[in-house]
Amino acid sequence: MKIKDSKILISAVKPDQYPELELPEIALVGRSNVGKSSFINRMINRKNLARTSGKPGKTQTLNFYLINEDMIFVDVPGYGFAKVSKSHRDVWLNMITTYLLNRPTLKGVVQLIDIRHLPSKEDKEMFKWLIENKLAVMIVMTKADKIPKGKIQKHAKDICKELDIPTGFPIVFSAETGIGREEAWEAIGELIES
Ligand code: GDP
Repeated sequence: MKIKDSKILISAVKPDQYPELELPEIALVGRSNVGKSSFINRMINRKNLARTSGKPGKTQTLNFYLINEDMIFVDVPGYGFAKVSKSHRDVWLNMITTYLLNRPTLKGVVQLIDIRHLPSKEDKEMFKWLIENKLAVMIVMTKADKIPKGKIQKHAKDICKELDIPTGFPIVFSAETGIGREEAWEAIGELIES
């Protein structure tokens, strides 16, 4: 995939702030720190268009990125940060469910999972919720460079088993080395066309 142009359109918290462009959107979800910003940056070959940070739970807005003037990535704030109040969590939950359930241009959701660990309770709940709500989901296993090559298959298989999905379905990805990038673009293309 050749990226000619990418830019941030808007950071939104409610529907009247969503961009009005009628372009296909792909949302990215995952635990804080799983590598969502790094995924976006690697996919569009930009060093830091999407903000990466070591601080879990920092981004609390839906960030819309316009790619090649023909599609949009929507970075959804991550889940799984421990020190948040219930009211904070409710605001977050309302923001993401409002977006995911009511956006006609949303074509699919990329859920990122750290390949080093089995899916957390929240990863599993999110996956189940997306499926139950009939959203097209694609799983990307991030940070593949952080485990030895010989262990990738086993980790991938164990994650699939936990999520109850076929082995071979998820994409093994590294923002560091770029493995999985073309495959991810191909799968995103399929989501957009389906
Ligand atoms: P986000 O909170 O999900 O947006 O996560 P970030 O993209 O900010 O990444 C969190 C941390 O993990 C940062 O320190 C990144 O540099 C690191 N990281 C993300 N993806 C990878 C990867 O594929 N390989 C390695 N080695 N580090 C990564």
